[in-house]
Amino acid sequence: MKVTVLGKWGAYPEADGATAGYLYEQDGFHLLVDCGSGVLAQLQKYINVNDLDAVVLSHTHQDHMADIGPLHYASLIQHSLGHRDTVLPVYTAPVDVEKISSIADTPWMDVIEYNPQSELNVGPFTMLFSETEHPVPCQAIRLSAGGTNVGYTADTSWLDKWPTFFKGVDLLIAECSFYDGQDSKVAGHLTSTECGQLARECEAGELILTHLPHFGEHDTLLEEAKAQFDGRVLLAQTGQVWEK
Ligand SMILES: [Zn+2]
Ligand SMILES: [Zn+2]
Repeated sequence: MKVTVLGKWGAYPEADGATAGYLYEQDGFHLLVDCGSGVLAQLQKYINVNDLDAVVLSHTHQDHMADIGPLHYASLIQHSLGHRDTVLPVYTAPVDVEKISSIADTPWMDVIEYNPQSELNVGPFTMLFSETEHPVPCQAIRLSAGGTNVGYTADTSWLDKWPTFFKGVDLLIAECSFYDGQDSKVAGHLTSTECGQLARECEAGELILTHLPHFGEHDTLLEEAKAQFDGRVLLAQTGQVWEK
């Protein structure tokens, strides 16, 4: 499985960057998980937009879905040019279907409801969901393909179920919105220390810190997570590739 980080920022993208978006590839299938601000432009550095096979959304905060509108226009234009003949499916939780449909449910994009209680199979990928603690409904995702497992926290504060839900993942992509000692819970996010603790407790192979804050020194986040977890820890970067 190949994972390409398209955006590392929480909230809004800084210059030339993007917020949440992760491209997963397996057996020639291209799955985008989250489609935040700036993600569509970044995606096209790595694949032709017509090669995108499906999108899955964790929740409808703008830093995770702002580019669904532009992606819809891309699909419309590419259909009208005769470059795309398949409808792009966008999978979203039941609670978000109406909101996403108002933007994207057209002849060029198909909004499909997933059941967070069930396994979702999309191409070669299998996904399991778990509701996070966040100001709006949000789903963490455990994604598997070809014997490789990747955990994505989406946006959440610490919950005791996380080490079990993400048990044994080869890679944990954890949102790291705050530094050690800050009150992350009130905003529904994780600190660097909690990310490291989670990676240790779920026995992750590697940890990528993402959804990074617009303050402080990100290297400090890295040091704080490393103090909790002996495995490899990386700060998310646009274009970073992880493969197993
Ligand atoms: Zn977010
Ligand atoms: Zn959010």
